[in-house]
Amino acid sequence: MIEENVKLVKERIARAALAAGRDPDKIVLTAASKTMDAASVARAIAAGISVCGENRVQEMLEKHEQGAYAGARLHFIGHLQKNKVRQVVGLCGLIQSVDSAELLEMINERAALLGICQDILLEVNIAGEASKGGFAPESISHILESSPELANIRVRGLMAIPPISLEKGANRAYFAKMYKLYVDNSVKKYDNISMDFISMGMSGDFEDAIAEGSNMVRVGSAIFGQREYARGIPQNRS
Ligand SMILES: *Cc1c(COP(=O)(O)O)cnc(C)c1O
Repeated sequence: MIEENVKLVKERIARAALAAGRDPDKIVLTAASKTMDAASVARAIAAGISVCGENRVQEMLEKHEQGAYAGARLHFIGHLQKNKVRQVVGLCGLIQSVDSAELLEMINERAALLGICQDILLEVNIAGEASKGGFAPESISHILESSPELANIRVRGLMAIPPISLEKGANRAYFAKMYKLYVDNSVKKYDNISMDFISMGMSGDFEDAIAEGSNMVRVGSAIFGQREYARGIPQNRS
């Protein structure tokens, strides 16, 4: 099941990339493994997953302790509470979901204490949803301009979680808007910024996201099956 799904998702990613004239190998598949137990995560990795993304710090620490992520890289993709920064910096190679200037500063501080440089993505509230965190699209260039002051952070790109798409193609306009934001901000040259990744697209819409320029998708249910606690796409703030 998981093994089959990993293969299918990879094939779908490859097809979408080729259709968009892009190299399938340049698209990073992040397996969104929230609520999945350590054994399931390990199976996904054995089947070819090389990046796992988790949403909840406590759950991630428990699974990490169980060795769930051996052989893969670990990313954080959920809303990071400020009192949990300490536990995530250094453990996760990439924090995809940095959604406030205050969080940026706290991550920088923690990374400085550890003597490391923490890779992060800036989460953009691309649809301007009141219920979601993230930077307003208009504020990204300002955040980037001030980020060289944060010497222990490296901004690797942008991430977005558009609204739950109820119809096929409903999010394409948001993906396109994100891509434009990404490109516009990539041409500027800043210290400690390397705009390598644009993380967008989930089980329901990753092909659309790739068509619009995504090079990092976060796929959960299409790999692991439907999560038990709820159907559909959970909110980032959990
Ligand atoms: C759960 C989750 C995903 C994956 O959602 P699916 O619809 O199961 O693919 C992607 N990104 C984030 C931030 C998530 O929390």
